[in-house]
Amino acid sequence: MKIILLGPPGAGKGTIAKALMDYDGSVQISTGDILRAAVAAGTELGKQAEAAMKAGDLVSDELIMGIMGERLQQEDCQRGYLLDGFPRTLPQARALKSLLDELGEKLDCALELDIPREVIIDRLTTRRTCSNCGEIYNVKTRPPKVEGVCDVCGGPVLQRDDETEEAIENRLQVYQQQTAPLVDFYRDEGLLVSVPSSDLEPVMAALKPRIG
Ligand code: AMP
Repeated sequence: MKIILLGPPGAGKGTIAKALMDYDGSVQISTGDILRAAVAAGTELGKQAEAAMKAGDLVSDELIMGIMGERLQQEDCQRGYLLDGFPRTLPQARALKSLLDELGEKLDCALELDIPREVIIDRLTTRRTCSNCGEIYNVKTRPPKVEGVCDVCGGPVLQRDDETEEAIENRLQVYQQQTAPLVDFYRDEGLLVSVPSSDLEPVMAALKPRIG
Protein backbone atom coordinates (compact mmCIF):
# COMPACT_ATOMS: atom_id res chain seq x y z
CA MET A 1 0.00 0.00 0.00
CA LYS A 2 1.03 3.60 -0.54
CA ILE A 3 -0.26 5.75 2.26
CA ILE A 4 0.39 9.12 3.85
CA LEU A 5 -0.14 9.29 7.61
CA LEU A 6 -1.49 12.64 8.76
CA GLY A 7 -2.10 13.87 12.28
CA PRO A 8 -0.40 15.94 14.97
CA PRO A 9 2.74 14.75 16.73
CA GLY A 10 1.70 12.08 19.22
CA ALA A 11 -1.36 11.00 17.21
CA GLY A 12 0.10 7.49 16.84
CA LYS A 13 1.31 7.65 13.22
CA GLY A 14 4.49 5.69 13.96
CA THR A 15 2.68 2.95 15.85
CA ILE A 16 0.07 2.55 13.12
CA ALA A 17 2.77 2.59 10.43
CA LYS A 18 4.60 -0.26 12.17
CA ALA A 19 1.39 -2.31 12.42
CA LEU A 20 0.59 -1.68 8.74
CA MET A 21 4.12 -2.75 7.74
CA ASP A 22 3.40 -6.18 9.19
CA TYR A 23 0.18 -6.31 7.16
CA ASP A 24 1.74 -6.29 3.69
CA GLY A 25 5.46 -5.57 3.92
CA SER A 26 5.21 -1.90 2.96
CA VAL A 27 8.07 0.16 4.43
CA GLN A 28 7.60 2.88 7.03
CA ILE A 29 9.44 6.04 6.03
CA SER A 30 9.67 8.56 8.86
CA THR A 31 11.39 11.83 7.97
CA GLY A 32 11.74 12.48 11.73
CA ASP A 33 13.66 9.18 12.18
CA ILE A 34 15.85 9.93 9.16
CA LEU A 35 16.67 13.38 10.53
CA ARG A 36 17.30 12.14 14.09
CA ALA A 37 19.72 9.52 12.73
CA ALA A 38 21.51 12.25 10.75
CA VAL A 39 21.79 14.44 13.87
CA ALA A 40 23.12 11.51 15.93
CA ALA A 41 25.67 10.68 13.23
CA GLY A 42 26.72 14.35 12.97
CA THR A 43 26.32 14.44 9.18
CA GLU A 44 25.95 17.66 7.15
CA LEU A 45 22.20 17.00 6.92
CA GLY A 46 22.04 16.54 10.69
CA LYS A 47 23.85 19.81 11.28
CA GLN A 48 21.43 21.67 9.04
CA ALA A 49 18.37 20.17 10.73
CA GLU A 50 19.39 20.13 14.40
CA ALA A 51 18.43 23.61 15.64
CA ALA A 52 14.96 23.61 14.03
CA MET A 53 14.24 20.13 15.36
CA LYS A 54 15.24 20.96 18.89
CA ALA A 55 12.87 23.94 18.94
CA GLY A 56 10.03 21.91 17.44
CA ASP A 57 10.10 23.95 14.21
CA LEU A 58 10.08 22.42 10.74
CA VAL A 59 13.23 22.00 8.70
CA SER A 60 13.19 23.48 5.20
CA ASP A 61 11.06 22.02 2.40
CA GLU A 62 14.19 21.87 0.18
CA LEU A 63 16.03 19.69 2.67
CA ILE A 64 13.06 17.36 3.10
CA MET A 65 12.37 17.05 -0.63
CA GLY A 66 16.06 16.30 -1.19
CA ILE A 67 15.81 13.39 1.25
CA MET A 68 12.47 12.07 0.03
CA GLY A 69 13.18 12.46 -3.69
CA GLU A 70 15.94 9.88 -3.22
CA ARG A 71 14.27 7.72 -0.59
CA LEU A 72 11.10 7.07 -2.59
CA GLN A 73 13.12 5.70 -5.48
CA GLN A 74 14.91 3.06 -3.45
CA GLU A 75 14.26 -0.60 -4.16
CA ASP A 76 12.31 -1.37 -0.96
CA CYS A 77 9.62 1.18 -1.89
CA GLN A 78 8.40 -1.11 -4.68
CA ARG A 79 6.36 -3.08 -2.12
CA GLY A 80 4.67 0.10 -0.93
CA TYR A 81 5.33 2.73 1.71
CA LEU A 82 3.79 4.41 4.73
CA LEU A 83 4.86 8.03 4.87
CA ASP A 84 5.07 9.02 8.53
CA GLY A 85 5.58 12.74 9.15
CA PHE A 86 5.82 13.67 5.47
CA PRO A 87 4.50 15.75 3.77
CA ARG A 88 4.11 18.41 6.46
CA THR A 89 3.55 21.58 4.42
CA LEU A 90 1.53 22.41 1.29
CA PRO A 91 4.71 22.92 -0.79
CA GLN A 92 5.89 19.43 0.28
CA ALA A 93 2.48 17.95 -0.64
CA ARG A 94 2.57 19.59 -4.07
CA ALA A 95 6.19 18.52 -4.64
CA LEU A 96 5.30 14.95 -3.64
CA LYS A 97 2.41 14.96 -6.09
CA SER A 98 4.73 16.02 -8.96
CA LEU A 99 7.33 13.44 -7.94
CA LEU A 100 4.76 10.62 -7.89
CA ASP A 101 3.36 11.75 -11.25
CA GLU A 102 6.90 11.57 -12.66
CA LEU A 103 7.42 8.11 -11.19
CA GLY A 104 3.99 7.00 -12.45
CA GLU A 105 2.82 6.13 -8.94
CA LYS A 106 -0.49 6.65 -7.17
CA LEU A 107 -1.26 6.96 -3.47
CA ASP A 108 -4.01 4.75 -2.02
CA CYS A 109 -5.00 7.39 0.50
CA ALA A 110 -3.99 9.95 3.12
CA LEU A 111 -4.97 8.57 6.52
CA GLU A 112 -5.71 11.24 9.12
CA LEU A 113 -5.58 10.20 12.78
CA ASP A 114 -7.92 12.79 14.29
CA ILE A 115 -7.04 12.70 18.01
CA PRO A 116 -8.12 15.26 20.70
CA ARG A 117 -5.49 17.75 21.86
CA GLU A 118 -5.59 16.65 25.55
CA VAL A 119 -4.82 13.06 24.56
CA ILE A 120 -1.92 14.23 22.40
CA ILE A 121 -0.35 16.37 25.13
CA ASP A 122 -0.64 13.58 27.68
CA ARG A 123 0.91 11.06 25.29
CA LEU A 124 3.82 13.28 24.31
CA THR A 125 4.78 14.35 27.81
CA THR A 126 4.79 10.73 29.01
CA ARG A 127 6.56 9.30 25.94
CA ARG A 128 10.13 8.06 26.21
CA THR A 129 12.27 6.82 23.33
CA CYS A 130 15.32 4.57 23.13
CA SER A 131 18.03 6.85 21.83
CA ASN A 132 19.78 3.84 20.30
CA CYS A 133 17.09 1.86 18.42
CA GLY A 134 14.07 4.22 18.51
CA GLU A 135 11.75 1.85 20.44
CA ILE A 136 8.95 3.88 22.02
CA TYR A 137 7.82 3.61 25.64
CA ASN A 138 5.35 5.44 27.87
CA VAL A 139 6.02 6.07 31.56
CA LYS A 140 2.34 5.44 32.40
CA THR A 141 1.23 2.73 30.01
CA ARG A 142 4.36 0.99 28.75
CA PRO A 143 7.48 1.59 30.84
CA PRO A 144 10.64 -0.39 30.04
CA LYS A 145 11.15 -3.40 32.36
CA VAL A 146 14.19 -1.69 33.90
CA GLU A 147 13.78 2.08 34.28
CA GLY A 148 15.75 3.99 31.64
CA VAL A 149 16.94 0.84 29.82
CA CYS A 150 15.54 -0.35 26.48
CA ASP A 151 13.95 -3.84 26.58
CA VAL A 152 14.96 -4.41 22.96
CA CYS A 153 18.59 -3.29 22.76
CA GLY A 154 19.67 -2.20 26.25
CA GLY A 155 20.17 1.41 25.05
CA PRO A 156 19.25 4.48 27.14
CA VAL A 157 15.52 5.34 27.21
CA LEU A 158 15.16 9.11 27.37
CA GLN A 159 12.76 12.00 26.84
CA ARG A 160 13.39 13.53 23.42
CA ASP A 161 14.68 17.12 23.30
CA ASP A 162 11.53 18.13 21.43
CA GLU A 163 9.22 16.52 24.02
CA THR A 164 9.63 19.20 26.67
CA GLU A 165 6.36 21.06 27.32
CA GLU A 166 7.62 24.17 25.53
CA ALA A 167 8.69 22.30 22.40
CA ILE A 168 5.44 20.30 22.38
CA GLU A 169 3.35 23.51 22.49
CA ASN A 170 5.36 24.82 19.56
CA ARG A 171 5.07 21.58 17.56
CA LEU A 172 1.29 21.56 18.00
CA GLN A 173 1.09 25.18 16.87
CA VAL A 174 3.32 24.42 13.87
CA TYR A 175 1.04 21.47 13.06
CA GLN A 176 -2.08 23.67 13.13
CA GLN A 177 -0.52 26.35 10.97
CA GLN A 178 1.49 24.36 8.45
CA THR A 179 0.30 20.75 8.36
CA ALA A 180 -3.44 20.84 9.17
CA PRO A 181 -4.16 22.49 5.75
CA LEU A 182 -3.08 19.20 4.14
CA VAL A 183 -6.32 17.63 5.36
CA ASP A 184 -8.25 19.87 2.93
CA PHE A 185 -5.63 19.34 0.23
CA TYR A 186 -6.06 15.55 0.34
CA ARG A 187 -9.84 15.82 0.71
CA ASP A 188 -9.87 17.81 -2.55
CA GLU A 189 -7.66 15.13 -4.14
CA GLY A 190 -10.27 12.52 -3.14
CA LEU A 191 -7.67 10.73 -1.00
CA LEU A 192 -8.65 11.61 2.58
CA VAL A 193 -9.61 8.89 5.06
CA SER A 194 -10.16 10.30 8.56
CA VAL A 195 -10.34 8.12 11.68
CA PRO A 196 -10.98 9.50 15.22
CA SER A 197 -8.72 6.87 16.77
CA SER A 198 -5.21 5.44 16.59
CA ASP A 199 -6.32 1.87 17.34
CA LEU A 200 -5.54 -0.63 14.62
CA GLU A 201 -9.04 -2.07 14.29
CA PRO A 202 -10.94 1.10 13.29
CA VAL A 203 -7.98 2.18 11.17
CA MET A 204 -8.02 -1.11 9.23
CA ALA A 205 -11.80 -0.92 8.80
CA ALA A 206 -11.47 2.57 7.31
CA LEU A 207 -8.55 1.55 5.07
CA LYS A 208 -10.04 -1.68 3.69
CA PRO A 209 -12.08 -0.07 0.90
CA ARG A 210 -8.92 1.73 -0.29
CA ILE A 211 -6.35 -1.06 -0.08
CA GLY A 212 -8.52 -4.09 -0.86
P1 AMP B 1 8.62 13.75 14.00
O1 AMP B 1 9.36 12.65 14.65
O2 AMP B 1 7.91 13.31 12.75
O3 AMP B 1 7.71 14.50 14.95
O4 AMP B 1 9.72 14.80 13.49
C1 AMP B 1 10.61 15.41 14.40
C2 AMP B 1 11.09 16.75 13.83
O5 AMP B 1 11.77 16.54 12.58
C3 AMP B 1 9.99 17.75 13.51
O6 AMP B 1 9.56 18.48 14.65
C4 AMP B 1 10.69 18.63 12.49
O7 AMP B 1 11.62 19.50 13.10
C5 AMP B 1 11.49 17.61 11.67
N1 AMP B 1 10.69 17.06 10.54
C6 AMP B 1 10.28 15.76 10.38
N2 AMP B 1 9.61 15.62 9.23
C7 AMP B 1 9.57 16.84 8.65
C8 AMP B 1 9.00 17.33 7.44
N3 AMP B 1 8.31 16.54 6.60
N4 AMP B 1 9.15 18.66 7.16
C9 AMP B 1 9.86 19.47 7.98
N5 AMP B 1 10.40 19.08 9.16
C10 AMP B 1 10.28 17.76 9.48
